[in-house]
Amino acid sequence: MEDSAGGASLRSGPDGKKRRVTYFYEPTIGDYYYGQGHPMKPHRIRMAHNLIVHYSLHRRMEINRPFPAGPDDIRRFHTEEYVDFLNAVTPDSISDPAYSRHLKRFNVGEDCPVFDGLFGFCQASAGGSIGAAVKLNRGDADIAINWAGGLHHAKKSEASGFCYVNDIVLGILELLKYHRRVLYVDIDVHHGDGVEEAFYTTDRVMTVSFHKFGDFFPGTGHIRDVGVGNGKYYALNIPLNDGMDDESFRGLFRPIIQKVMEVYQPDAVVLQCGADSLSGDRLGCFNLSVKGHADCLRFLRSFNVPLMVLGGGGYTIRNVARCWCYETAVAVGVEPDNKLPYNEYYEYFGPDYTLHVEVGSMENLNAPRDMEKIRNMLLEQLSRLSHAPSVPFQTTPSTIQPPEEAEEDMDERPKPRIWNGDDYESDPEEDEKPLRRFSNSDVIQLTTDADMRQVSQDLKEVKAEEQPPAP
Ligand SMILES: [Zn+2]
Repeated sequence: MEDSAGGASLRSGPDGKKRRVTYFYEPTIGDYYYGQGHPMKPHRIRMAHNLIVHYSLHRRMEINRPFPAGPDDIRRFHTEEYVDFLNAVTPDSISDPAYSRHLKRFNVGEDCPVFDGLFGFCQASAGGSIGAAVKLNRGDADIAINWAGGLHHAKKSEASGFCYVNDIVLGILELLKYHRRVLYVDIDVHHGDGVEEAFYTTDRVMTVSFHKFGDFFPGTGHIRDVGVGNGKYYALNIPLNDGMDDESFRGLFRPIIQKVMEVYQPDAVVLQCGADSLSGDRLGCFNLSVKGHADCLRFLRSFNVPLMVLGGGGYTIRNVARCWCYETAVAVGVEPDNKLPYNEYYEYFGPDYTLHVEVGSMENLNAPRDMEKIRNMLLEQLSRLSHAPSVPFQTTPSTIQPPEEAEEDMDERPKPRIWNGDDYESDPEEDEKPLRRFSNSDVIQLTTDADMRQVSQDLKEVKAEEQPPAP
C-alpha cells in the first residue's frame, strides 16, 4: 500500500490531500439477521470491516463505536407510535392480535421482517450516522464514515425496502444545526425516496438521486419530481436504465455534481454509497465496477467540504465488502493492493481473492443520446435554480443563535468510544469547543403528510398530461 502522495491511482494536488477520517463501527452489527433467504445481510458490514482492518486502514482513521440512538433521537424524524412499536415488537409478539394491525400499518412483515434485536440494529445504524454528524459539526473530522447507515427508504411512520429507521434523515437533521445547506447524493440502484420525501419542501437540503427507474422498486424518482414550495428545484432525480457502466455513469455524475456544487454551495455533503449499483448485484441491474462506484466518492472528496459517507443497499455481499473497503481507502487517501490480505472471510472472495473483479458483460441500455438529454435537462434545471431570486442563499445574522441559547440537544450525548485497535476507549480530548449553531426554529420544517398528499396529487396531474395516449 502506498500513500496518495506517491501512489499511482490517486492524483496529487488537492484531490490527493490528506483528510481527517473518522469511522463508526458497532462490533455486534454482523450478528443481526433478517431471516433465512432475506437478501439484506448485516454480516456484509462485518466483512467490510474485516477487510479494512486487514488492510490496516484503521490505523489511518479514528475508529468509534457508535452510541446507540435513543427513542428520543429517532423521534426527531419518526412518529412516536412508530418508534414505540419498533422498540416493543419481537418475533414472538407478532402473532399477538394487539400487534397484527400495527404490522400492516407500519409496513412490517415481509420485506421488512421483525427479527431478533431489530430495534438495537436501528439504534446502531442511526447512532453511527448521528455520531458522524456530531463529529463533522464539531470540526473533528473532514470525512465521517458509517457503513451501517444509508437506510434511505424508511419513512416517517413506515418501514420500507429493508429499512426501518432513516439514519440519513436523522444525520442530516443533526448537520443542519451547524450547516446552512446540506447536499445529499444517493448512488444506490434504488431511488432515495425516504430522504427526498423528508426534505421535499425545503431548500436547506438538496437531494440528488441516481437510480434505475421504470418497473423497479420503489417506483418514485421521475426526472420531473423536483421538489415543491421552498424546496422546488432542490430535489434532483436521474432516472437510469439497466446495464449502467462506469463511463456512462461518470459522464452524468461529474458534470451534474460539479454544477450542483457551484450553484448550491453546500456546507456539508452526505453520500449514500449503496453497493447494489455494482455489477452482479443480487437485486440490482447496473454494471458498475468498484472503481467506477468509488469515483463518486473520489469526486465529492475533491471539493473538500465536510463529508458523511454512508452504506445502503448491496446484496452480493462479497462485492459490498470489496466496495466499502476500497471506498474507505479512497477516503483516507491510499491505494490498496489488489491482492486481498488473508482475513476471516477469505473463502468468500474466491476464486480470484482480489479487491477488484471484472464487471459482467451486460448490455448498457442507457443510450449516449438519452444520457445527453438527461444531462442537459438537469443542468438546465440547475441553472434555473441559480437565477431564482427568491432563494435565500445567504443566512441572515438573526438566524444564528449564540451558543448559550442553544437548547438541550445531541451535543449533550455521550461521546462515541474510540477504538485503540483491540478495544474501545474513551476520547482523550474532551475539549468543549463552543460552536455557532442554528436555533431549533431554524432547523427546517420536515415535509408533512398534507404536503405529501398535495405533492402526489400534483404529480399525478403532471404525469397524466405527459403520458401519450395508451395504444
Ligand atoms: Zn438499493
